[in-house]
Amino acid sequence: MDTREQICQAIDSCRERVISLSHELHEHPELKFQEHFACDLLTRALRERGLGVEVSLAGLDTSFRCAFGNSGPTIAILAEYDALPNGHSCGHNLIAGAALAATIGLYSVVQELPGRIVLMGTPAEEGGGGKITLLNNGAFDGVDAAMMAHPADCEYSAIPVLAMQHLRITFRGRAAHAAAAPWNGINALSAVLQTFHSVDAARLHFRDLSRVHGIITNGGQAVNIVPQLAQCEFSARALTARHAEEIASRIRQCADAAALSTGASVEHETICAYKNMISNRTIVRAYERNSLALGTATHEAPPGTPTGSTDMGDISHAIPSIHPMFQISNQGEGTCHEDSFVAYSDSDRAYAAMVRVAKALALTAYDLVANPQELAAAKAEFAATRK
Ligand SMILES: [Zn+2]
Ligand SMILES: [Zn+2]
Repeated sequence: MDTREQICQAIDSCRERVISLSHELHEHPELKFQEHFACDLLTRALRERGLGVEVSLAGLDTSFRCAFGNSGPTIAILAEYDALPNGHSCGHNLIAGAALAATIGLYSVVQELPGRIVLMGTPAEEGGGGKITLLNNGAFDGVDAAMMAHPADCEYSAIPVLAMQHLRITFRGRAAHAAAAPWNGINALSAVLQTFHSVDAARLHFRDLSRVHGIITNGGQAVNIVPQLAQCEFSARALTARHAEEIASRIRQCADAAALSTGASVEHETICAYKNMISNRTIVRAYERNSLALGTATHEAPPGTPTGSTDMGDISHAIPSIHPMFQISNQGEGTCHEDSFVAYSDSDRAYAAMVRVAKALALTAYDLVANPQELAAAKAEFAATRK
């Protein structure tokens, strides 16, 4: 049996174990930075197999790293495992399962592996930017290429992930009795509402495929008090980090104008910012080749395909990376973050796709360590893109 068959066979052998682990994650959804159950479960599964694991990297309690192999290039496989307030509606239990199974597959050939594999446990993709903290604190130092795969209602080897800035805007006015002495008050809620109207008026001028969406997180304290404090949050997304910053800057101007006209004071802060995804075409081609050999054709999403944002974007600006999507629901019937996607993420269809994708990731990682020319081509492409 050749090495590639051995990798796939090891993944088949751990199939039931990994599916039950992924299901357990699904049963215990944890919000960003709170993924203690997930971190324990995954690191225990690795240690059971004799793998060494480091936890709490870069001050993130729920991060982990498991590395093995020999001298040669280092390939990172990333696991996400955080959930949203409506449960595993982004299917990160499947991302973790695929990454774990791929790692187990590659570990089965550790003796003849001409390089190193790192399984990186990355917390808080949903708005916490765990990968960015790990990257900035050196957790990815020495990694030559990085990969992960995300569930979706479609099968794509690469998607145009948007750059994103998440802003919080706070207005402070002056409380007063809303009926007896409203003239003494300064209405912070009016400033929030004006900000929304101004942003809506500015939308016309944003670039195609930009997305701007906001919520009011504090709209006042009591109906009979002029709101002294009001807060809102906006997400500004665009095809490039520069355009996302242009939109964020316009939102801040809208808030400043609202403060001026209402007399409230304003503060803005950036809660997090994600870069757009640069999918490395050389590695994407390798993934497509391996996926097809496993029986599933996949290709790049057509330009204009609607997507979200991810902290994998920041990794892709630092290291040649891929972020393929794998299909677990019929297109248009249920997409990430919808309630229906919670059930899709715990279905037989999803688990079959997870195991298939684990093989495609593992074989792609193996190709990169075993074929120096392929990795060199990926790096040359990365260098050219950065220019
Ligand atoms: Zn998500
Ligand atoms: Zn997600």
